[in-house]
Amino acid sequence: MSFTVAIIGRPNVGKSTLFNRLVGKRLALVDDTPGVTRDRREGDARIGSLKFKVIDTAGLEEAFDDSLEGRMRRQTEMALEEADVALMLFDARAGITPLDSHFANWLRKSDVPVILVANKCEGKQAESELFPAYKLGLGDPLPLSAEHGDGMGELFDALLPYEREIEPEIAAKDRPLALAIVGRPNAGKSTLVNKIIGEERLLTGPEAGVTRDAISVEWEFDGQKIKLVDTAGIRRRARVQQKLEKLSVADSLRVIKMAEVVVLVVDADVSFEKQDLTIAAHVIEEGRGLVVAVNKWDVVKDRQAMLKQIREKLEISLPQVRGVPVVTLSALTGRGLEKLLPQVIEVYRLWNKRISTSQLNRWLEHMLEKHPPPMAKGRRLKIRYMTQVKSRPPTFSLFMSSRGELPESYIRYLINGLREDFNMPAVPIRISPRTGK
Ligand code: GDP
Ligand code: GDP
Repeated sequence: MSFTVAIIGRPNVGKSTLFNRLVGKRLALVDDTPGVTRDRREGDARIGSLKFKVIDTAGLEEAFDDSLEGRMRRQTEMALEEADVALMLFDARAGITPLDSHFANWLRKSDVPVILVANKCEGKQAESELFPAYKLGLGDPLPLSAEHGDGMGELFDALLPYEREIEPEIAAKDRPLALAIVGRPNAGKSTLVNKIIGEERLLTGPEAGVTRDAISVEWEFDGQKIKLVDTAGIRRRARVQQKLEKLSVADSLRVIKMAEVVVLVVDADVSFEKQDLTIAAHVIEEGRGLVVAVNKWDVVKDRQAMLKQIREKLEISLPQVRGVPVVTLSALTGRGLEKLLPQVIEVYRLWNKRISTSQLNRWLEHMLEKHPPPMAKGRRLKIRYMTQVKSRPPTFSLFMSSRGELPESYIRYLINGLREDFNMPAVPIRISPRTGK
């Protein structure tokens, strides 16, 4: 499944007909969650070799009880949240109605690219109807007949670029986990990297399974491909005996951006300082998974006190990601090293986690009951529902039905709840409230 297409448009333009044509018998899922998501249909679609996920919004109107515009807007909003591209259908026989125009005006402001589709165009008879469609400001209309199948080749061409664009993002399964090892100079990064790769070589035989070039190393651990990105240690060994460059914050930020999970190496001998926390905070801001490796454990005298101190500093300074794994080890002797990669893979798994809309909303209902949202301007803030819009890291949209800001503290309540109830320590979790107005 490479990308997601939402079919949108006013009632009766042929959305369901198109959905059925695209999905055929492959209808994968009819979400039967009570409430708003009831009539949403998603399926695995195919045109020729092009495979994608399609979301149909038809029928969703009934879930709301206010104006048609309001209902359409909300149903569309939900679909757009997940879509990489939208097909806006209009009925070429009926021409452009005020409702189409109204809708297009609003749609033009969305970030999601829109392909305008003139439906019911079988046998070319309605082509003269297409001129007025330009005034919608959504580009050239693509003539199609959902019922008869005309124009599917053109639709294929129009959608193809989205597959290409999205593919590298989505083909996550076979892609190696991008791992960065960062930390202050002298923390032991290069020793650690060489130890990890050295151990791997012992396990897999000389050079087998390990490829390395100037700036990256790739190997497999426990069935998971791992790629070490832009590691200072590797580069330094490549240049002969160069002076230690200071790892500036800008440097580590650049490396963090290239990674999915980051191991922050801290020097137990120097204790856990502000610069370490700054790097850790960057990892979280960038939405990466974090594992802290406390190195040089061999020279630590009071181990318990040291560990306690590090955990406390992390909890206080990074309350956004409770439960960051802390692994103590000695890169020099290799002691404790075996705990590191399993933690990295676990964090990666959480970072990729997806929670279904029905599960989320059952959970949300419970959370709202336990602790209702506060009042704003004399009215209770109303949360309609929630969906996970993406993973890597887990990101959620919270749909509000009334105006008014949801306080930060309430969002934190939900984030902490998600972290706890769905067991997601150590990865950033994001929630953005939206008002359907
Ligand atoms: P939705 O409300 O947007 O999902 O629209 P439907 O898919 O239910 O279609 C509304 C009506 O338009 C139905 O009677 C369909 O049979 C008809 N229809 C859909 N696609 C075409 C088409 O390509 N050509 C013609 N002539 N009618 C179509
Ligand atoms: P980098 O600048 O972060 O890449 O750090 P290096 O890997 O170059 O290590 C800096 C110094 O710390 C070197 O002298 C290493 O031998 C030493 N070192 C690295 N790991 C350990 C360890 O686990 N224990 C001890 N005692 N020393 C270590």
